[in-house]
Amino acid sequence: MPDPTKRVLLAAPRGYCAGVDRAVVTVEKALDLYGPPVYVRKQIVHNKHVVTTLEQRGAVFVDETDEVPEGATVIFSAHGVAPVVHDEARALGLRTIDATCPLVTKVHREAVRFADGDYDILLIGHDGHEEVVGTSGEAPEHIQLVDGPDDVANVTVRDPEKVVWLSQTTLSVDETMETVRRLRERFPSLQDPPSDDICYATQNRQLAVKEMAAECDLMLVVGSRNSSNSVRLVEVALEHGTRAGHLVDYAEEIDEAWLDGVSTVGVTSGASVPEILVRGVLDYLGDRGFADVRPVVAAEESLMFALPNEIRRDLKAAGLSDKMRHDGSFAGAGSLH
Ligand code: SF4
Repeated sequence: MPDPTKRVLLAAPRGYCAGVDRAVVTVEKALDLYGPPVYVRKQIVHNKHVVTTLEQRGAVFVDETDEVPEGATVIFSAHGVAPVVHDEARALGLRTIDATCPLVTKVHREAVRFADGDYDILLIGHDGHEEVVGTSGEAPEHIQLVDGPDDVANVTVRDPEKVVWLSQTTLSVDETMETVRRLRERFPSLQDPPSDDICYATQNRQLAVKEMAAECDLMLVVGSRNSSNSVRLVEVALEHGTRAGHLVDYAEEIDEAWLDGVSTVGVTSGASVPEILVRGVLDYLGDRGFADVRPVVAAEESLMFALPNEIRRDLKAAGLSDKMRHDGSFAGAGSLH
């Protein structure tokens, strides 16, 4: 029964971004075109459900390129790879499809450009994250990682007049600005990136959470533990006034005790999360009296990327459509529409 004292605030935008949609559709189209198995280096996007569903269709996820049989097709994930990975694939005679998000590629290009100018590049990001490994690999001798504000004290540069910061695309905007503030205290001539590295999708999802956080007793973020932007959404909610926040892959992971004494639940999802999983959480909440769902719209999004050139070429040659879906849904998981 709906309970008039209980409500859900539903963040918008949430879920799939343009880069994730493109990467997932790339794997789906590659399976249609070449047939299984299609190899994917690392998780195509950081979401358990997406990976499991693609595995069921014949995608094989590997950690390293040398696990792919000679001559097979391998797709590089949305997080990007270092140039050395392209070299390895070439040496093994693999057919490669690069599903790196164009907004990650943009950061790679910035890194190359500043390395060519002999800058020290301070890359703000999380140690070991695939995107950071890929970007660092563009210019390892020029790039050093700065893993948050507390890491600033460890930075050393050759020439304080020639230093630039870049960042991972999925960080907390506020924490990154704090890291930059501390870096600038140490290096007043620190240059900013030519444009925002934290991508539109990360920024918009954080913005929506900030708008509703103070009104929420509980924030449920749908996303996987290894999804950087999803983890950040829980942190942002807690920093902006939500009493408790949890990350869940599926509705089944919600602990009913979290709802004790709660009248407003915030719901959002990370950029790699299909909408069907959010629907599962809303159904779970609806069954427990939280049937009043109110959208909180912080921004409109319409960005869509074309598929990678390699697969567009092969799709065209086979007389198949090279168009992206229009609704950002995950075909393997059903959609809300
Ligand atoms: S979160 Fe941003 S950078 Fe990452 S895939 Fe999505 S749009 Fe691209």
